[in-house]
Formats: sequence, C-alpha cells, structure tokens
Amino acid sequence: MANRFLDIAAPGLAQLRPYVPGKPLAELERELGIAGSIKLASNENPLGPSPRVRPALTAEMDALTRYPDGGAHALRTALAGHHGVSPACVTVGNGSNDVLDMIARVFLWPGRESLFSQYAFAVYPLSSTAVGAKLRVAPAADFGHDLVAMQAMITDRTAVVWIANPNNPTGTRLTAAPLRAFVEALPANTIVVVDEAYFEYVHAEDHPDVSQWLGDFSNLVVTRTFSKAYGLAALRIGYGLSHPDIADLLNRVRQPFNVDSFAQAAALAALGDQDHIQRSVAVNDAGMHQLVEGVERLGLNYIPSSGNFLAIDLGRDAGPVDQALLRLGVVTRPIANYGLPNHLRVSVGAGDENARFLDALEQVL
Ligand SMILES: *Cc1c(COP(=O)(O)O)cnc(C)c1O
Repeated sequence: MANRFLDIAAPGLAQLRPYVPGKPLAELERELGIAGSIKLASNENPLGPSPRVRPALTAEMDALTRYPDGGAHALRTALAGHHGVSPACVTVGNGSNDVLDMIARVFLWPGRESLFSQYAFAVYPLSSTAVGAKLRVAPAADFGHDLVAMQAMITDRTAVVWIANPNNPTGTRLTAAPLRAFVEALPANTIVVVDEAYFEYVHAEDHPDVSQWLGDFSNLVVTRTFSKAYGLAALRIGYGLSHPDIADLLNRVRQPFNVDSFAQAAALAALGDQDHIQRSVAVNDAGMHQLVEGVERLGLNYIPSSGNFLAIDLGRDAGPVDQALLRLGVVTRPIANYGLPNHLRVSVGAGDENARFLDALEQVL
C-alpha cells in the first residue's frame, strides 16, 4: 500500500522496506503452542559471552541515572591497545551496523556510487540507499567476492566499496594477497570498508587482519563487532578502525551517546578474556564439522563457510522447509532476500542444537 508521506520523504526511501528480523523465540512458541525451540538464525555465540561480563554489567547498575561516557574512553583505549593503533583511530557504534551507517552518511549522497558484491551483507545497500547513493552490485564468483569484477566497476564517482570478510550470508572469505592488491589499486579518494564481523572465527594462515594495514592505507575502514564471537548481540556494540581523519568525520555524525554504559562495560570485560574467544572458536570448529558432515550425509550441497554459519543448498525453495522446521521448533534463516531462494542459512550452535537441527532437517526433507 502506498505510503501517503513518501513524496515528502528523502529520495532513497521509496526503495527501502523495514528490515525483517527473525521472529523472537517466545513469540514463535506462543503462536505454535510449543516449547523448547532453538534459534540458529542470527549467528550468535552458543556459549554466550565471557563470564567476566555479568559482574561488569552488575556494577553498572549503580550508575543508571548518569549518561554513559560519550567518548567511550576506557573501551577505545583498550581497543586501540588490542589492535596496536591510536585511540584516535577508533569509532564506537551501537553495533557495527551503526558504524556502517555513519560511513554511508559521511561519504555517500545522490550522484555518488556505493559498490559491493552480489550476496554481500544487507546493510550495505540499506545504508547506501537511505542516503540516496547509487548502488553498484558486482557479480559474485562461486558465491564470493570477485575482486576483478569489482575493480572493473570502480569509477570516479565510486565513493565507498564494501567488503565483508568473511561474508554473511555466504561464509566465503578473501585471502590476504588479493585483498591487499585490490586495496592498493583503489583511488586514494575511494573509501574501502572491510567488515570483519566474523574475523575471530578464521584461523587460516593466509587470512588478513586488515586492522594491521591501517598505517598503509588512509582510505581504509575496518569494522568489528561484539555481536558474534564475543557473544554480546543483545547489547549492540561494534567499532570501526580508520585513519584519525576518517574517525573524526564519523564522530561528527555519530549520535553523542550511541553506545550505552552496559555495552561499554561488557565489551571491555569481554575483550579482556581472549581465552573465551578461543573456546568459542573451538566450539564453532566442532559444530561446523558436525553440520557439514550431517549435511553431506543428507546429500545436500553447501557453501564452504569461514564463519559461524552455513548456507545449505536445499535444491528447492527453502521457504517451505524453513516453515516446516519452525513447526519442529528449529529457527533458521531463509536467504531469498539475498537472491539465494534455495539456500537456508543455519548458525553453528552447541552440539545438541546442531544435532537437533540435522534431525529436523532430515525429517522435513
Ligand atoms: C552480524 C554482522 C555485522 C554486525 O552487526 P552488529 O550491528 O555489530 O550486530 C556486521 N557485518 C556482518 C557481515 C554481519 O554478519
């Protein structure tokens, strides 16, 4: 139905629809009259966050009446130490999506181009469209970023290039050498965003930690999040790392208190517990192995994934399969909205959750 205020809204909004998140478990269970369902839909950490987070949150209960530290001083200092950069390079966000949105608001407007890959993360087109930029979508190769195709689409109007490494929802990743060559070849005034939301899960020798390239490329922005391996999705906190002049611009559009005091305290505590990250990665490795083995046993194809999720090719419309899984109390993510109607994205859960998903999938198929 037509929106009566659309003609007075910003130009990009005609192309946008509200993001449809997965249904909360409680609502699903109420609707279906079931209990004990599991959610493997949003790539969260089945272990949850570090045990250090809870006491850090409790301590913040005494300061509810005060605004949080708008500059996130303690957290930005710790993040700078973690990456070996200056605190002036760090921009905090209400989730890393918030940082992605700041990047769009700073560098994109009507007449400028936003370039990303087919099957890339949904927030790039969302934030780019909202500010009226022109979207350029490079065709993927084997579901992953085709850097040659992307390179060929750079024009003098290309203001921002977005690369998720690993990418969601496909789980594909780029190795260091080709990515570095791509960044090197970009015009100095084209911003390149490398979204490392799933960085912690990759332990391949050839995988780049792009935060270590900041000294070489002043047009580079790296984003990281506490929502995935750090297990803090509910608190909404992520960050960007960039040249201080880019961070300065991002901070000009950043809402003054965009990251609340609980999120800051929890992130600081979680960052200090890298052993928990190692445990989480081990759980993910085992769970990924379990899922891949189960999916192969069912004779299904999948996109090999470097993240904490797997896109499974059901060989038919994934929508009805998703619905049938829901009725068995298993929530996964169909990704037709990404142009992958036959794929179902499932997050790697704890061992018993993965087993339950595989059982349910076998039953449904
Ligand atoms: C989950 C995800 C994010 C992180 O979102 P937050 O706003 O930090 O929760 C960013 N990029 C990609 C590719 C993701 O999958």
